Amino acid sequence: MSKAKEMMEFIEKSPTAFQAIANIAEKFDKAGFVRLQESEEFSLEKGKSYYLTRNGSSILAFRVGEELSEPSFKAAASHCDCPAFKVKPNGVIAAEHYARLNTEVYGGALFTPWYDRPLSLAGRLVVREGEKISAKLFDLKKDFAVIPSLAIHMNREANQGFASNPQSDLLPLVSERKDFDLRKYLAKEAHIAEKDLLSYDLYLYPRQKGFFFGEKKEFLCSHHLDDLACAYTSSEAFLSTKDEKGINVYACFDNEEVGSLTRQGAASDFLSATLERVAAALDLNYRSVLAHSMMLSCDNAHAAHPAHPEKNDPTNHCFMNQGIVIKYNANQSYTTDALSAAVFVSLLEKKKIPYQYFTNRSDLRGGSTLGNISNGQVSLLSLDIGMPQLAMHSPMETAGSRDVDYMIEGIEAYYAAHLQLTSDMNYVLS
Ligand SMILES: [Zn+2]
Repeated sequence: MSKAKEMMEFIEKSPTAFQAIANIAEKFDKAGFVRLQESEEFSLEKGKSYYLTRNGSSILAFRVGEELSEPSFKAAASHCDCPAFKVKPNGVIAAEHYARLNTEVYGGALFTPWYDRPLSLAGRLVVREGEKISAKLFDLKKDFAVIPSLAIHMNREANQGFASNPQSDLLPLVSERKDFDLRKYLAKEAHIAEKDLLSYDLYLYPRQKGFFFGEKKEFLCSHHLDDLACAYTSSEAFLSTKDEKGINVYACFDNEEVGSLTRQGAASDFLSATLERVAAALDLNYRSVLAHSMMLSCDNAHAAHPAHPEKNDPTNHCFMNQGIVIKYNANQSYTTDALSAAVFVSLLEKKKIPYQYFTNRSDLRGGSTLGNISNGQVSLLSLDIGMPQLAMHSPMETAGSRDVDYMIEGIEAYYAAHLQLTSDMNYVLS
């Protein structure tokens, strides 16, 4: 099976951050990684691989080199959350003869494409089990809801642009009964007693499966490419490589779409505290190891849109299937600088892996990601890369099939290399 197909299968079974992290953890289990608990002492050995999760929605993993002769951390970080609609605690609104879910927008969702498509619910339920309170993964896996458009006849201006109101237009229809009871419904679907369902974190997600399209199936369209494409490709590269002289690190964080400032986000102490503990458990000096270390911040990039070339920077725009995108921003919303780009580009060139550059137009603000946020906690030589894609933050996003392989190969080249800082601006790659 092609890696692009495998990636879409991973995305299909990862409708929210909770499922994505469970699936990544399962991959690490199968590869023989040892699962650590934050609440327990770390006891680590050279040559072994480990992982731990926080909140069930962020994960860190590391592979300790057999020799560990020139210790450095070489990390790749991505995020597993995506813009969606989150169900409120009192989650049902009666409207005329119907019931709709009362939801709140999570992140910077592109509203229009959410209309008139089959939607389901996933996330986690928190339940009482005797004296215990436990979080359970939940995925309804049914066509459960639709956000119906208003007919063109009732809004003749709709095609000239329609401002969706999240508290009225975007609430999904779920029942013809005004008294629809969501808690009862969830308890039944999850096979638990209603009295034991204490709370939930549930999000709407599109039911449509990912698919390939185009003359040669050179494109793919899927839910959640931003950023599960990077979470997947970096995990594949992480699993297939080792740096025997150093420590390779895989990170996938929740809550990037809402600013990362949560217990499990890139702005938390999850990465810094874990790396400090790893260094201590291996008897290494954390600060001096950090000085030799590097991070790839992996999050997708905007490919040039065929209908809107005017949105591109004139000389730094990128295309699907043309390789890994290296993202620059003068104001450092991307962490790339000449030094980090040179280190990465030299690795790509050695393996003949295509790459391209992206900057925003000088009159467009553009987006940001977790790299610079994480750098405030764990300060490393960093750069921002990603897969070029269209329709970012739509429930179905489009990317190039071949770029999946380029991403894996490029991150493999990075993880397989050993990086050593010999003076403040002087790196040796081996
Ligand atoms: Zn992203």
